[in-house]
Amino acid sequence: MSENSNATTEQISIIPGRCIGAGNCVEVADSYFDQNDDDATVVLLRDDVPAEDQDTVRRAINVCPVAALALTNSARA
Ligand code: SF4
Repeated sequence: MSENSNATTEQISIIPGRCIGAGNCVEVADSYFDQNDDDATVVLLRDDVPAEDQDTVRRAINVCPVAALALTNSARA
């Protein structure tokens, strides 16, 4: 009922070629990130991040040792 309509959904993006399969992001936010069975590189399970999950996803991005992930604001006018 109390939906926060001011909240801005943000978007996760993967910077190609960087991921080394460390898996840190998966440990922090396993509903957003998984790892490829073949080479352990990151697989995005969903890319839209509602406000209530942004702290968690930001933490996951910050623990990536090679800065392979980014969160961008996708605010629409
Ligand atoms: S994106 Fe970063 S933290 Fe996630 S698996 Fe790849 S290297 Fe590890």
